[in-house]
Amino acid sequence: MSDPVKPSLVGLTRDGLKKALAGMGVEPKHQSMRANQLWNGLYVQGATDFGAMTTLAKSFRAELDGVFSLQRPQIVTAQVSADGTRKWLIRFAPGIEVETVYIPDEERGTLCISSQVGCTLNCRFCHTGTQKLVRNLTAAEIVWQVMIARDDLREWPRAGRNSEDRQITNVVMMGMGEPLYNFENVRDALAIVSDGEGLSVSKRRITLSTAGVVPMIPKAGEEIGAMLAISLHAARDEVRDVLVPINKKYPIKELLNACRNYPGLSNARRITFEYVMLKGVNDSMADAKELVRVIGGIPAKINLIPFNPWPGAPYKCSEWEQIETFGEFVNRAGYASPIRTPRGRDIMAACGQLKSESVKARASERLAEMRSAELSRMPH
Ligand code: SAH
Repeated sequence: MSDPVKPSLVGLTRDGLKKALAGMGVEPKHQSMRANQLWNGLYVQGATDFGAMTTLAKSFRAELDGVFSLQRPQIVTAQVSADGTRKWLIRFAPGIEVETVYIPDEERGTLCISSQVGCTLNCRFCHTGTQKLVRNLTAAEIVWQVMIARDDLREWPRAGRNSEDRQITNVVMMGMGEPLYNFENVRDALAIVSDGEGLSVSKRRITLSTAGVVPMIPKAGEEIGAMLAISLHAARDEVRDVLVPINKKYPIKELLNACRNYPGLSNARRITFEYVMLKGVNDSMADAKELVRVIGGIPAKINLIPFNPWPGAPYKCSEWEQIETFGEFVNRAGYASPIRTPRGRDIMAACGQLKSESVKARASERLAEMRSAELSRMPH
């Protein structure tokens, strides 16, 4: 657990780090260089104690150690799926826990991180939506998820891995919570994660997913500059109002207008629309036609996500054939429409399955195991 007395340096922007140094009495003329050295120690080396930051004078390291902590938060559980997907339950403070998921693939490794403990959105098909919002994560807590994954995947230079051989090539803000309801912390965290002299995951490889907090979308484009994903899931307001209740506040038309105006949008930088396939709800050919119609003119890719079940979920996944037919239609209309292979379902790590109330999570994991037999009969 992070030290309750000594604050961490993780999560501070470069400016914040300089201010922290100023607070320790470091002279202005030395602040930039010291901040750079610390930054390197934190985010290039992944140091967990000041002793390892050998570019700093020994006495200064001791001084830092007296004021700040480099301890990582506690990993409560670490699970590995049969398909190689990993999930960590991380505890930042008592009762403040989130899940982080790593999905290795042939040509990339994607880390899915959370922005809030719980969520306020109540999307009907999402497990996280059944957990009340506990609180926003701080910038440090968002960045720590990347650092903890790097620890566990032995990705720091001291583990001997060279930078060509990276495991975490992409980061998606698609874990628990709505990132645009925690704007400043997400912005600061992603600036740290994308810093080229640090964790160095380029913004082209970071995707921020939102259920559609329309007023924040232009700001996200300007101040965060990550790739944008929209949890669309329905092309008609009557349906989306039920699935993604924030639609009642910001209906499809307004949402798609914000997408059309997203800064930097081009064929090379498309918006990803996520579309969960729910049997008999949003998966008809009429739905596919309407989808193609409403997104007309937006450089876009549609990720078709087979619905991932969870205990008590009020929906079923569409038939595989239906998903394929739907996808073919969208594809013929000119939009890439990959069907996302469900990953990590056996450890409840797939899209929409995350939830962190430890007691309930364990109960639901047991149920998930019972259901995995049922799932394995589903055509993939
Ligand atoms: N609040 C943000 C970030 C969460 S992203 C957002 O809504 O975009 C998580 C993604 O998984 C979203 O696209 C969400 O709609 C999707 N999802 C939620 N529950 C799901 C489920 N049971 N099966 C498949 N996808 C699901």
